[in-house]
Amino acid sequence: MPPNYWIRPFRKAVAVKIVHYPEPILLQKCQPIEKITEEIKQLAQDMIKTMHEGNGVGLAGPQVGLTKQIIVINPTCEQGKDEVLLNPVILKRKGRELGEEGCLSLPGIYASVMRAQWIRVSAMLLTGEKTVFTAEDFRARVLQHEIDHLNGILFISKIQPAEEVMVKHKLHSMQNKVLANA
Ligand SMILES: [Zn+2]
Repeated sequence: MPPNYWIRPFRKAVAVKIVHYPEPILLQKCQPIEKITEEIKQLAQDMIKTMHEGNGVGLAGPQVGLTKQIIVINPTCEQGKDEVLLNPVILKRKGRELGEEGCLSLPGIYASVMRAQWIRVSAMLLTGEKTVFTAEDFRARVLQHEIDHLNGILFISKIQPAEEVMVKHKLHSMQNKVLANA
């Protein structure tokens, strides 16, 4: 069961359990966040803590069991540089760049993914303010990976043919592990 963020009282940030492949929630489309409540702010703090504890550079709603359009990112892993984006949408993409990706929901799997080198994104901040900004290179990659999560898309569906066999093999052993524990 996903953690229930909607009834918990206000408290300090906690790291929550990350949803792993092949949980079906990872393939679901997320709903936009209409109103910024205390619960959403708390969820954002929990996601930031969870991302850092997992040594990740980004985390999306479905990865903590919620089909809500929320992502947290920190591409440079610098303290105080965490960003929370609600309802993010990619408005424009330019260029192409191949780079290695991993995912906290797919531990141990790394593969090259082709992404736009430059993107323009619109999103809502935790203050309720709407923002439009551009990003490039690794920051653009992290954003594209996380925004994909909100549309139920995992990076393993975008890998290069040369790496497919290796990744499929690892995915099978992940699935078998889940079945063995069920
Ligand atoms: Zn991911």
